[in-house]
Amino acid sequence: MVYEVKVNELAEEFGVHRNTIRNWINSGTLPAQEGPGRRYLIQLEDYRKLCEKYGRTPRIDVTQSPVQPPLDTELPIDNFDTEPSLLTGKSSSLYSEPALADTCNTCGSCASSCPISGVDGLDPRKIVRMAFLGFEEELLASDWPWKCTLCGRCEESCPMNVRIVELMRALRASRPRGKVPSPIQKGITTCLEKGNNLGIPKTDFMDLLSSLGKELHNSDCPGFSTPIDVRGSRLLITINSKEPFAQPENMTWWWRIFHAAKESWTISSENWEGVNWALYSGDDNAMKTIVERIVDNMERLNCQALLLPECGHAYYATRLGLQRWFPETLEKFTVYSVFDLLMEYISEKRITLDNTTHTQLTAIHDSCNYGRKSLKTFGNAFYEESRAIVQACCPNYTELLPNRNDTYCCGAGGGAWASPYTVERVYYGSKKARQIKESKAKLIVTSCHNCKDQMEKSLNREFDLDIEVKYIWELVAQSLTRVLS
Ligand code: SF4
Ligand code: SF4
Repeated sequence: MVYEVKVNELAEEFGVHRNTIRNWINSGTLPAQEGPGRRYLIQLEDYRKLCEKYGRTPRIDVTQSPVQPPLDTELPIDNFDTEPSLLTGKSSSLYSEPALADTCNTCGSCASSCPISGVDGLDPRKIVRMAFLGFEEELLASDWPWKCTLCGRCEESCPMNVRIVELMRALRASRPRGKVPSPIQKGITTCLEKGNNLGIPKTDFMDLLSSLGKELHNSDCPGFSTPIDVRGSRLLITINSKEPFAQPENMTWWWRIFHAAKESWTISSENWEGVNWALYSGDDNAMKTIVERIVDNMERLNCQALLLPECGHAYYATRLGLQRWFPETLEKFTVYSVFDLLMEYISEKRITLDNTTHTQLTAIHDSCNYGRKSLKTFGNAFYEESRAIVQACCPNYTELLPNRNDTYCCGAGGGAWASPYTVERVYYGSKKARQIKESKAKLIVTSCHNCKDQMEKSLNREFDLDIEVKYIWELVAQSLTRVLS
């Protein structure tokens, strides 16, 4: 029993491009036999399965007598390949490796782990299958890869190790740059042109840093002056441009800690941006350029150690970029995460912490980039370090459930905080809000700018959480027992 059809008819029926249908046929995904008049002969059962898979009502009644091929057509029905189609993935140009879609067994674990699955039709299993089957136009036109926060929770539950986050990023990368959510693309373009995402001029930046340094000297860090471009300093730090632009006092949390620890450190006057939004947009060239600038600053200022940017995605992007494109720097320089550096200061007693300042019930929000994704990509997360640091400051401690590798993204990751999908971001964050409410914590500590903004400015208001949210370095700076001059 066969269904006789032209490629363009089938494309119209399934709402896909003709090439997609040809790809299905060529790859064996849709077994079909060439027929007369540029028609294809498809087993009715295969046609029915295809309709079922994509939720379409069959155009023909598959329970009735089938369409008969013309009498002069010799249908080699005995030779028809009824073996299961081989999952080679050759039909798709959306990814380069089988591990990004071919090995999927359609179990659906990813969909049940994803906090936003079901919203606007987003479903990681469906996206993986669509990529495999060559639904290129549909995927590139859809906003799903941008509403996904690249949190990696789906991958954790995948029994086949499908690299779903990498696939999502590849889909983002395949979009024309003019169709990337404009705040993200604008930030990248401005960073490439002017050295930071917000285009802050060098003189304004240096004036701000100097005046903040003077204020610190006049308040609780006597002798402090901001070390800009100090060659030979031990440690180079980068800055999230949001801080000098809108929250300059936040920079001083780190400065107070450095002052207390008697650190030798510096900030570059140029290309100081720590944020790397090219991780979000899938633009590897831009991502590499931004990481390379940090490497150049290390060389130019003759520093020995780099503090990776103190924000989840910035840390992950920079570490990934160093590992991928500048592996020699990992041998040459000491590379610290915020947790590594704080733990070193504490264990060497370069700073001591007072645990009587923050007495409210406190919990940690594990950032996906510092945690789950870092563990998978680099082999270490910072679950225990972050807890040791926070508990040294906050004796009244509890946990959000689930946590560590099973944590829910706050909902603002993957560029979602800067993207226009506000309703989806808030919905996504409802799981995090529920966790916080159930924990009864009143202080949430995190190590990521996006997480802090989402929980403090959005979820707090939307879900009446009545919480305070602090950066881990803010908490530590406020808990210092001695600020050395
Ligand atoms: S990465 Fe996170 S948001 Fe994206 S599909 Fe997976 S679980 Fe969902
Ligand atoms: S969890 Fe993995 S194998 Fe299962 S449907 Fe999702 S991608 Fe496929």
